[in-house]
Amino acid sequence: MKLVQINASKISRLRSGGMLNVWMPKNYEELQKFVKTKRKYIVLGAMSNVIIPDDEMNAVIIRLNKMNKIYFEQDQENTKTSNVNFLYSTPIKVNINNEPKYHQNQSIQSNTNNKYRVIVDAGVYLKALAIECAKHSYSGLEFFYTIPGTVGGALFMNAGAHGKCTYDCVEWVKVMDLTGEIHTLWRKNIQYEYRSANIPSGWTILQASFFLDLADKNTIMSSMLQFQEYRRKTQPTDFTCGSTFKNPANTSAWKLIKSLSNSDLNWNLISMSSLHANFLHNKGASSNTIKKFILSIQQKVFQKHKILLDAEVVIL
Ligand SMILES: Cc1cc2nc3c(=O)[nH]c(=O)nc-3n(C[C@H](O)[C@H](O)[C@H](O)COP(=O)(O)OP(=O)(O)OC[C@H]3O[C@@H](n4cnc5c(N)ncnc54)[C@H](O)[C@@H]3O)c2cc1C
Repeated sequence: MKLVQINASKISRLRSGGMLNVWMPKNYEELQKFVKTKRKYIVLGAMSNVIIPDDEMNAVIIRLNKMNKIYFEQDQENTKTSNVNFLYSTPIKVNINNEPKYHQNQSIQSNTNNKYRVIVDAGVYLKALAIECAKHSYSGLEFFYTIPGTVGGALFMNAGAHGKCTYDCVEWVKVMDLTGEIHTLWRKNIQYEYRSANIPSGWTILQASFFLDLADKNTIMSSMLQFQEYRRKTQPTDFTCGSTFKNPANTSAWKLIKSLSNSDLNWNLISMSSLHANFLHNKGASSNTIKKFILSIQQKVFQKHKILLDAEVVIL
């Protein structure tokens, strides 16, 4: 197993954090072998929503960049007319009935009426997936175009934008548990809500199936470009982690944050963005300083509005 040392302050979206010992497995078997060693590990995607500690981490950082395939398939009733072949990515037999107990008795109904399926490895970047879907005239994941994460990260966070969230069109998610066993979790058995899903801690998201509609390519592309333009005008894209806090019920985090004083919002090397008050802008602060800044914003908002903001960014 070849570990590569990577400096998080050079590649994480916030440009902060210390050295990481990164390993990129090529396939499920390699990952399974590693998981069975019981060595401590954390799976990360594009690092667009994490604050990485400044000190070197003990855990091995697993990144699934080499598991990055997209498979387009038409639904059974259309397979005869389909000229897109469905490929299955792994020789490992997956027991689709093997649902963990904690998932039982949960009842989010599936609304998979749509006819077209795309199966995507967790290491695929969301923008690349959105572009490939557009090329195939598959509609439903346009909102991924402007989210700078991977499919694994989006499924873990239930990422969303422009009124849609990741689980809106998920059929199933394939995961590896802490013993190396692979499970397929059907969407109706996954409890998901705004920016979270109950994928158990430490399990690795490997792949997911999405059910999509067919639409005109140009319409799909033009929605994606509109989303991009909207972002460009309203949100910073560099050295940030997107929304720092989740929106509380009945109001927006940015409104509460914006009500604070300038000195609360601007520290020496870090500030809340003037374009969007819930987006951090890091200008060279360490992860420790970023964490202190986030805590301070949380406290100031609480003092002023008696609302406790919940961090959306994952603090490792
Ligand atoms: C400019 C900008 C704009 C953004 N806009 C949005 C937005 O509109 N909507 C939104 O929801 N988010 C947004 N984000 C936040 C972020 O892009 C999303 O949360 C994204 O889904 C995170 O994916 P990632 O691959 O970067 O995950 P990471 O940041 O690498 O990890 C996030 C969490 O997911 C876990 N994880 C990642 N991959 C796996 C895996 N394969 N298996 C198990 N766990 C895994 C990690 O352990 C970690 O806990 C934005 C971020 C930026 C920088």
